[in-house]
Amino acid sequence: MNRHERRKAESVAKIPKADGPPTPCLACGINFPSQRRFREHVSRDHHIPDGHLIYDFDRVLYDVTEIDTVALLNAPKFGPFLIPLDERTMWGLSMAQIHEGRLETMTPMELRRPVLAVDHSSLGYVRFIDGHHRMTKLHRLGSREVEAYVVPEGEVEPFIQRRRPNP
Ligand SMILES: [Zn+2]
Repeated sequence: MNRHERRKAESVAKIPKADGPPTPCLACGINFPSQRRFREHVSRDHHIPDGHLIYDFDRVLYDVTEIDTVALLNAPKFGPFLIPLDERTMWGLSMAQIHEGRLETMTPMELRRPVLAVDHSSLGYVRFIDGHHRMTKLHRLGSREVEAYVVPEGEVEPFIQRRRPNP
């Protein structure tokens, strides 16, 4: 998958204020007419409660709120660690979902909050599931590292849903 395809395939879904634009569920491969309908589906079919942050990318849906809780409850086992803010790390972010306004209003205190990642060691990569704005801003400010909680996928399997291969 190249970077362009990747941008097309990804979406970050937070709690919608209105119905919002048409939104696919990447874990199911189903398109929903609005973000609200998508969230109803996530709650009903994926059993992720309303109000939880979610992240979905490349056929995988993460319950960010639950994974964040696992990271915090087990600290310092899963971090925060200093992770290089290099090109490889930045490549994994959803740049298409970065809002300039959000970057401008971010406070220094917000910037210091560690970001969150899942270590998919079986697949050979770490995926950042929360903190893309913080990382983008830090990178632009010239930071070479970011503080991150990094939770092994095996510790949070119940909170990661993957699309099953087509039969
Ligand atoms: Zn789904």
